[in-house]
Amino acid sequence: MSDLRVRFAPSPTGFLHIGGARTALFNYLLARKEKGVFILRIEDTDVARSTRESTEAILQAMEWLGLSCDEGPYYQSQRRELHIAKIEQLLREKKAYRCYCTPEDLEARREDALKAGRKPKYDGTCRELEEPIPNSPFVIRFRAPREGATSFDDRIKGPISFQNEELDDVILQRTDGTPTYNFVVVVDDAEMGVNLVIRGDDHINNTPRQILMYEALGYPVPEFAHVPMILGADKARLSKRHGATSVMAYKEMGYLPEAMVNYLVRLGWSYGDQEIFTMEELIDKFSLENVGRSAGVFNPEKLLWLNAHYIKTGDPERLAGLLREFLSARDITTDEGPELTEVVKTLQERARTLVEMAEGAEFYYLEEIHPDPAAAAKFLSDKKPVFESLIRHLKQISQWNEVSVESAFSSLMEESGLKLGKIGPSVRVALTGVTTSPGIYEVITVLGRDKTLSRLEKAIESLS
Ligand code: GLU
Repeated sequence: MSDLRVRFAPSPTGFLHIGGARTALFNYLLARKEKGVFILRIEDTDVARSTRESTEAILQAMEWLGLSCDEGPYYQSQRRELHIAKIEQLLREKKAYRCYCTPEDLEARREDALKAGRKPKYDGTCRELEEPIPNSPFVIRFRAPREGATSFDDRIKGPISFQNEELDDVILQRTDGTPTYNFVVVVDDAEMGVNLVIRGDDHINNTPRQILMYEALGYPVPEFAHVPMILGADKARLSKRHGATSVMAYKEMGYLPEAMVNYLVRLGWSYGDQEIFTMEELIDKFSLENVGRSAGVFNPEKLLWLNAHYIKTGDPERLAGLLREFLSARDITTDEGPELTEVVKTLQERARTLVEMAEGAEFYYLEEIHPDPAAAAKFLSDKKPVFESLIRHLKQISQWNEVSVESAFSSLMEESGLKLGKIGPSVRVALTGVTTSPGIYEVITVLGRDKTLSRLEKAIESLS
């Protein structure tokens, strides 16, 4: 056991997106590698934007990816008393103050500052107020130091320093009494003993403000590691324009969680030129030292390539279990017909997603095959005699397997003088209705004697 304590702290204002999932994964991997603790905290304090559906969706996505936490999920909204007590502590110690400036005042001063070419920030009007103003709405602001600098050594980006005069007196508590993100994140991370904060670099500007708050509250300051963001191929920040950004959308598109994990980890982390990693290997090899400093570029083709790899090498029985859902979505039931695991084995080579696999598996379970008319015209029209002798040879098989099916074809080819290239495509169309499928011997073996013979007979009927 090390004393490492890390956390993932999503705001439940939407689904778990690619960037969030990668942050969660990096935290998870480091915690597992160092035998530390991985905490999950739902930051649901923004009541207007947080929803239960989003919380559920995030938890489901974490589960799907296999990122189990050691502590939590904690809910920030249930920790209000603690947050308020800490704000009161800062007020008592004069490290925070009530600010009565109205939004209109602030906006007017902001515009003045912009006109005068100054950086807009709170001008400190209420900073030195001695007494509270009764019956007036107020926010509570942090009394940030105006001199000096706040620095930290980011575990990914290296040394970073901000001049304190650049930092605002941030709002700790809104007019309606709710505490703000920058404050509660500090209290919660400190109280939960988090000693390394790994998060997206969109938070880098918050970090010096948060460090000042750790110090004001008398908490030890954790280490920080800011992960570079993810861009689309056009180098713009990843958004819906670049395709699905929700992790669970990929589940629905037939991606495997191990492909997603493998893909996410490589978006910003590398280990030599190795591309394929099992979770165990990742836990063994992951380190912040190998997280790059520049943004990762989202590449859907690579994700698809990884998914194809994991389908090809996956356990057929497990894949069959996952495939059922995709087949029922197409109204295909597998209670009757070939064993689904055997069907999967015939499709692993070519299906890149479970959706493609379901498409490819469909013909095995259909009651009847209706070949595409163009394919029928091209491949079936003159094949009646061939099908008849194929039926004859297949009927002689006593042990139905790939070897005996192949030898039935050999006898047919010998007898008819036709090459497999002349027979195979026609048989394929008769049995599957389409012109691409797994190898014809495999198809016949898995489809089974009854279905094969009846489909060939149906094809003959349709020809007369
Ligand atoms: N709830 C914040 C977010 O989702 C957490 C930021 C942090 O990790 O500190 O952006």
